[in-house]
Amino acid sequence: MVSGVPEQVPQQRRLLTEIPGPRSRELWARRERAIPKGVSTTLPVFVIRAGPGILEDVDGNRLIDFGSGISTTNAGNSAPLVVEAIWEQSALFTHTCFQVTPYAGYVEVCEHLNELTPGDHEKRSFLVNSGAEAIENVVKVARYATGRPGIVAFDHGFHGRTLLTMTLTGKEMPYKHGFGPFAPEVHRAPYSYPFRGTGRLADTIAVLETSVGAESIAAVLVEPIAGEGGVVVPEAGWLTGLASWCRERGILFVADEVQTGFGRTGDWFACEHEGVVPDLVATAKSLGGGLPIGGVTGRAEVMDSVHPGGLGGTFGGNPVSCAATLAVIRTIETEGLIERARVIGEAMLPRLRKLSATVPAVGEVRGRGAMVGIEFVRDDGITPDREITGRVLHRCHQAGLLVLTAGTYGNVIRLLPPLVISDELLEEGLAILEQAVTAA
Ligand SMILES: *Cc1c(COP(=O)(O)O)cnc(C)c1O
Repeated sequence: MVSGVPEQVPQQRRLLTEIPGPRSRELWARRERAIPKGVSTTLPVFVIRAGPGILEDVDGNRLIDFGSGISTTNAGNSAPLVVEAIWEQSALFTHTCFQVTPYAGYVEVCEHLNELTPGDHEKRSFLVNSGAEAIENVVKVARYATGRPGIVAFDHGFHGRTLLTMTLTGKEMPYKHGFGPFAPEVHRAPYSYPFRGTGRLADTIAVLETSVGAESIAAVLVEPIAGEGGVVVPEAGWLTGLASWCRERGILFVADEVQTGFGRTGDWFACEHEGVVPDLVATAKSLGGGLPIGGVTGRAEVMDSVHPGGLGGTFGGNPVSCAATLAVIRTIETEGLIERARVIGEAMLPRLRKLSATVPAVGEVRGRGAMVGIEFVRDDGITPDREITGRVLHRCHQAGLLVLTAGTYGNVIRLLPPLVISDELLEEGLAILEQAVTAA
């Protein structure tokens, strides 16, 4: 067993200093000298331990975690099975490179991805290091398999920060600003955004047919719920309609489940909610319980079309990340975390929706399972209100609750609690949030 592992951080919020405290501020000063401003930070408290629902900082403060490292630790930070698996695997060997000499963990992770992703058709998977790399690879595979160049991405979409994935991303500032020229053959279409009344299925399809042209499209790449875009849940039927439009035209329907996947929305994958079966699925974030790993899963005939040596990477599917992923899957299964995500959603959504009745600045509360967004607007009920969003964020942070922002207009508070958070911390976090919204 693991020796010298620190005991679990007590599951109670505790504020010993202001946020951030003096030690964090000292480290921040060093950080400013060592690290460029381009790498930004939501809450500058420096963490020393974390798990299941608490982040402890260098000043001894204990914050309630409603961020999960942007949904990378759905199964918990330093989850016991994951820690053990990492420790055991790293003591045996840390890497060989799967393309030099393989190991079973990689195969097992791929078998699980083939099994867990939507659809019972024959599938193949391979492993990479990040969400962006998974998206880069779905594009490679889709172009190869179809012989077509075009990739369609959507308004409010986020797909990563590499050249191709920032091109695919819909938001200019901060992701694309000044970083062009961008990759060619990327087309943008309207995403369904019911609160703003934009992107109805007919409008989306009209754009694809009139300004792109179906026969030039290799793939339509879509987040089943737009995370960075503001936890935008598309209108019921939009994803299924889009998927069948693609199928009829030989276009691959690709789901970016990097943020929505691995239990976050109350299913293994968010596509399952409407019974959508994608041709290709990109995964990352919560796969490795915090260790870097991403996956590309797709129809066997599509994936097998690529020539030997066309796919891969030195670190893709690192054995320690694979061991962690297998332990994450065991944790989700043994602790019933898919069901738990639904229970968390049932605790959060109705309670926060009451706020939209009493606080005019709350335009909409939306989400699914443990993925929730609160969109803030001005008095007219529609103009995005960034300022109030910032004030709510600040108040939550001061009170010891970590929340995130999101949204094309920067006016959404995003809640992604770990699925292992206790009922008590969830309740307390919601109470802090309600107070912060009311006060702001
Ligand atoms: C985070 C994210 C990515 C990029 O993942 P990285 O691991 O940061 O490269 C891609 N797509 C979605 C939907 C994401 O949320």
